[in-house]
Amino acid sequence: MRRKFFSIVLVLILLMGATACGRDLYVYDNPCFRTECRDSGRRTRQFFTDNETERFFCQRCVDNCFFCSQSAVRHFTNMMDSLTFVCQDCYDERF
Ligand SMILES: [Zn+2]
Ligand SMILES: [Zn+2]
Repeated sequence: MRRKFFSIVLVLILLMGATACGRDLYVYDNPCFRTECRDSGRRTRQFFTDNETERFFCQRCVDNCFFCSQSAVRHFTNMMDSLTFVCQDCYDERF
């Protein structure tokens, strides 16, 4: 009996640990959605498009503007139901 209770507690701790990890950035093992990065082995972060589609992107894709060399601060859902990361200038130009 006591043993069973103990294993439940252990499972709970493990579950909580997993949730805490999920909140950290760039911990997922899924490959980056961009083809250029797919096999890079970089850690990725989970995002959702406007259509609630789950997509993963590596830090490089998230941090760099898709159109220029500035650092990206915004993102939007593109025609491929993926996300495009852009700097403020490029975002303002588009919207
Ligand atoms: Zn990437
Ligand atoms: Zn830009």
